[in-house]
Amino acid sequence: MNLSSQLHETAKASAEKIAYYFLDKPCTYAELDGAITKFASGLEKLGVKQGDHIALLLGNSPHFVISLYGALRAGATVIPVNPIYTADEIGYILHNGDVKVVVGLDMMIPLAEKVHSQLPKVEHYIICETEHNGLGQPGVEQLSIYPKVKSFTAVVDSGDLSYQGPELQDEDTALILYTSGTTGKPKGAMLTHKNLFSNAQDVGHYLRMNNDDRVITTLPMFHVFCLTVALNAPLLSGATILIVPKFSPREIFRITKKYEATVFAGVPTMYNFLYQYPDGNAEDLKTFRLCISGGASLPVALLKNFEAKFNVVISEGYGLSEASPVTCFNPLDRPRKPGSIGTSILHVENKVVNELGEEVPVGEVGELIVRGPNVMKGYYKMPEETQAAIKDGWLYTGDMARMDEEGYFYIVDRKKDLIIVGGYNVYPREVEEVIYNHKDVVEVAVLGVPDPNQGEVVSAYVVSKNPDLTSDQLLEYCREHLAKYKVPSTIEFLEELPKNTTGKILRRALKKQVTHTVGN
Ligand code: AMP
Repeated sequence: MNLSSQLHETAKASAEKIAYYFLDKPCTYAELDGAITKFASGLEKLGVKQGDHIALLLGNSPHFVISLYGALRAGATVIPVNPIYTADEIGYILHNGDVKVVVGLDMMIPLAEKVHSQLPKVEHYIICETEHNGLGQPGVEQLSIYPKVKSFTAVVDSGDLSYQGPELQDEDTALILYTSGTTGKPKGAMLTHKNLFSNAQDVGHYLRMNNDDRVITTLPMFHVFCLTVALNAPLLSGATILIVPKFSPREIFRITKKYEATVFAGVPTMYNFLYQYPDGNAEDLKTFRLCISGGASLPVALLKNFEAKFNVVISEGYGLSEASPVTCFNPLDRPRKPGSIGTSILHVENKVVNELGEEVPVGEVGELIVRGPNVMKGYYKMPEETQAAIKDGWLYTGDMARMDEEGYFYIVDRKKDLIIVGGYNVYPREVEEVIYNHKDVVEVAVLGVPDPNQGEVVSAYVVSKNPDLTSDQLLEYCREHLAKYKVPSTIEFLEELPKNTTGKILRRALKKQVTHTVGN
């Protein structure tokens, strides 16, 4: 079994069931499956062979779903790329990933034109029509990539509904996900059909996804959190997904009410925006049976405030691209623990180890390592990095964690974000958790900054909703709740914190931003 064949089975058994709504238009499983088959067949007619690489530069849309499942059905390997990356970033991934076909929006044409000369392996650009179709614009025929441009609709229309794709093997690479990694250029994590299928299935079971669910899909589809939790798992369960191209609290409340959504998956910053939205109330979200948080740690204060305001339960989970991604979730049949990422999901083992790779006693902090059918095959064309990441079958996550006596894990922080103040370890998260508890604080990020005496000291960057709040008041508050060496040396107020498109607060970008300001 794989994602694409399972979707085909669902379409046979529940042809008329709605697979998704997009911009208020429904599409049944039978229609979706048909489009997928025709796209796969159209790819074959273009000369795409099993094992070829296809990059998707698309936002949340039916085009994304059809090209992902269609490419997999044709036996290709898919590389989802954040479409708002710069030409350099996209050029690097397309080159390093040996991409043969690119699927993107018409906006992508100028960008493709820019990087095309360095990408001899790209044979086709499949352009999805939008309202302002760049394909029809004057002068487009003059572009050097034009002979390679195909329209998405034309590819689907050329396809054959009786197409039977090649037989897919469990260990074939289904997806290559470029992750920012800790250092250097992005690395391509190779996920197999088995990795993707097992994680979507195990997450689906753990969260009891079923064909009555209506799941809000607003996390970016090119990110693995969305792919597995809000796309593949619901489609495997025969549920309906509600595709939201761009997150906004207003749209989430509207969609939830209109379609009686049952599941919401988001990153902590989305929960923060929903919580702060003045026009949202518990009545609007009463159909939610489950809210899922992941991608970054959910501050306990936010979890509690959100649950109290909207009368819902948030279950936090954890994962990383290299593990397809989920390894832990708070269970639904046992107590949910605030601040914890929960227990190991089905078939996946998590362990906390010391520098020597030995398991540490319960309650002690060490690196979280993971083993299971969800762990990647390796990094594409990077054997050394693969060897450093996977040892004896265990994936080293680079996240520091502890486990309690009931098997619940707690992420302490990224290993590399540890701040050492005069020899003492400070994890930014523990300071952030305290500051988040202050009633005027909307968002906070904590960094280590160099200090001639202590080596490093803690510095906090805060978005406040009260213009009268002073850094002295907030420092006083920190002194009441934190050991002396953990209290920030400085607190700076900012209008907003830098975030990536998934909504994760970017500590490294913040560091650059504030160093730059100081330098000025
Ligand atoms: P990515 O590969 O982009 O999915 O990023 C994975 C990283 O996100 C992990 O290694 C963690 O550092 C972080 N992460 C994901 N979920 C959580 C969570 N619930 N709590 C803390 N950090 C998380």
